[in-house]
Amino acid sequence: MSTVPAIKRLDQTVINRIAAGEIIQRPANALKELIENSLDAGATQIQILVKDGGIKLLQIQDNGHGIRKEDMGIVCERFTTSKLKKFEDLSQIATYGFRGEALASISHIAHVTITTKTKDAQCAFRANYSDGKLVSPRPGVSADPKPCAGNDGTQITAEDLFYNVPTRRRAFKSFSEEYNRIVDVVSRYAVHNSAVSFTCRKQGAATADVQTSSTSNITDTIRQMYGSSVASELLHVEKEFPQSEFKMNASFSNANYHVKKMTLLLFINNRLVESSNIKKSIENVYNSLLPKGSYPFVYLSLDINPRNVDVNVHPTKREVHFLNEDRIVDTITSTLQEQLEGANFSRTFYTQTILPGASQVESSPSDSDKTPTRKVQEYNLVRTDSRARTLDTFVQRPEDELMEGIVNTEDVLELDEELSSQPISSQSKKRPRIDVQMTSILNLRNAVKKSEHTGLTNVLRDHTFVGCADDTLALIQHKQDLYLVNFAVVSEELFYQVLLAEFCNFGKLQLTSPVSILECIKVALDVEEQQGTLPDQLQPKDTIAETITDVIVSRADMLEDHFSMVISKEGSLLALPMLLKGYVPTMDKLPLFLLRMGTEVDWETEEGCFDSLGRELAIFYSAEPPVEPVDITADNDTARRQYKQEHEKYLWQVQNLIFPGLKSQFIAPASLAREDGSYVTRLARLTDLYKIFERC
Ligand code: ADP
Ligand code: MG
Repeated sequence: MSTVPAIKRLDQTVINRIAAGEIIQRPANALKELIENSLDAGATQIQILVKDGGIKLLQIQDNGHGIRKEDMGIVCERFTTSKLKKFEDLSQIATYGFRGEALASISHIAHVTITTKTKDAQCAFRANYSDGKLVSPRPGVSADPKPCAGNDGTQITAEDLFYNVPTRRRAFKSFSEEYNRIVDVVSRYAVHNSAVSFTCRKQGAATADVQTSSTSNITDTIRQMYGSSVASELLHVEKEFPQSEFKMNASFSNANYHVKKMTLLLFINNRLVESSNIKKSIENVYNSLLPKGSYPFVYLSLDINPRNVDVNVHPTKREVHFLNEDRIVDTITSTLQEQLEGANFSRTFYTQTILPGASQVESSPSDSDKTPTRKVQEYNLVRTDSRARTLDTFVQRPEDELMEGIVNTEDVLELDEELSSQPISSQSKKRPRIDVQMTSILNLRNAVKKSEHTGLTNVLRDHTFVGCADDTLALIQHKQDLYLVNFAVVSEELFYQVLLAEFCNFGKLQLTSPVSILECIKVALDVEEQQGTLPDQLQPKDTIAETITDVIVSRADMLEDHFSMVISKEGSLLALPMLLKGYVPTMDKLPLFLLRMGTEVDWETEEGCFDSLGRELAIFYSAEPPVEPVDITADNDTARRQYKQEHEKYLWQVQNLIFPGLKSQFIAPASLAREDGSYVTRLARLTDLYKIFERC
């Protein structure tokens, strides 16, 4: 006798059960199919009721067109569908499901009850199903659909999911996890169908976990489902690409929003699907906008000519593929990128492209879906580690040792006389840090946070310094992008923020000889007068200078306590706050600063005073090159040499103190992201430059 086992044909119900188990792996899969059927039936209201994570009970009630009584006998058989009559229809089908397998599958692994009423029927009918067939609800009762009371529409109940597949049933660890998946599916369909009202609740619960109204628009629905922090940072785009035969409709977060995990709601031809290809490509779009390890929210709905979508995929194989996929995905990503770059706040530093080859894919109506040629792998060619060495580290720095000495000195810093002709030395006293809790300062700090432009913050925080282009512009690199930064403007903001952050805790820059405030202000007034910027005044200049000096001296205590500005009773300035260790502002600006303390600072209110004085100090400290001597004659040699030295020191401070300062805790305000890109400008994407080099 042969020991080889005979091959037996499996029983048909077993085959069906196995097939069903492949399609319906968990309650959320079943619900997805049921929601799709309701939407296919034209429902505008869908109510879902769940018990034990959907395993005990999954019920969905819709107000769609219902099922005719004569069809009730076969709705749960495999390959019965009202949506597909001939094989050729497969290529035209535009509804969600199209294979007539969902209800059949569910009836193989659960007890299904359908109650349904079409508009013109007198009453509703109810029927029970098992293994694809009508079954009798109780022994001795006919299995035929029975008339009953009911509203227009369909109610489908699936009970005891996987009652006949014990291994699958045991695999569910927690009801709440299954329930969360259900809520997730409902939320996604609710967003995609914002004109349909959805509710979803647990049986016995007083309130629904999902409740949307049919009058909401997509932003409202996203707010309800995913919170207002994302809803208020959304961009929208709707575009058709006739050549590639597809339409896209997207709502996606801008650079101000980011979270630890990407939320991607992807619908293709109204079916909730997954595509790792699309997901990765979208991640790449946001890569340069968001901090490392943070992700956007993206709702993307594609209408692709059904002819081009692979209809032979398994109905629940959620990972989809379609014809010309790469080309379509590229079109999608460049459309998103375009919108993100064009967004009002980002426009500044993302749109301006100067170098050839750096421009984005242009879109004109006729060829708007031209395939961009960017290759992702090229990113790897670019050095993007902001800790990496820059060009300048290979070039000899001016006064290297001297400068390093200043930065590294822990306590008292004496500026070398030869290095700096400025009568100043810096000092930071060791004293316990004061934790400032003044409402005014907290308010001002909050205002800074509120105005933040996160995209720009990230660029500055993770940048690599490339080099100074001139006295006010420097090149930095962030990821694959090269930016031109106006550091005169940016540093002013930096110093203002340092003033708020370190309020009451500054070290002191000690002036080696006292400076007369009165004389300084007189100098400033003379300059103003020469430049014709002094308004027609009522008082003589001297009187103005005296009044301002009095104002400043009378505030000496406050100025010392809060700003580390030391002023003697006689009206001499003895010390200034040390905002960045080792940084000395250009002293040419001191007279104007003192004058503006009288004209620009609001001495009336606490918050106003801290804010306006902070601003003035920031203007004073902001990077501004030393004034070049006008007179270039031979006997002016010393002045020139001195200027040269100061100028070198100036650029050194910019690179070694200001730009590192931007990396630590700087919050870029939206005001820096200006319309005309004059403050921070994206020059080029390095990958594009590489392409140019490759061609050479
Ligand atoms: P498919 O959706 O692929 O056609 P299903 O097994 O999901 O297959 O559904 C079978 C048929 O049952 C559908 O074609 C439709 O005619 C009918 N049907 C299912 N659910 C509903 C519903 N909620 N309202 C109206 N008809 C429905
Ligand atoms: Mg279906």
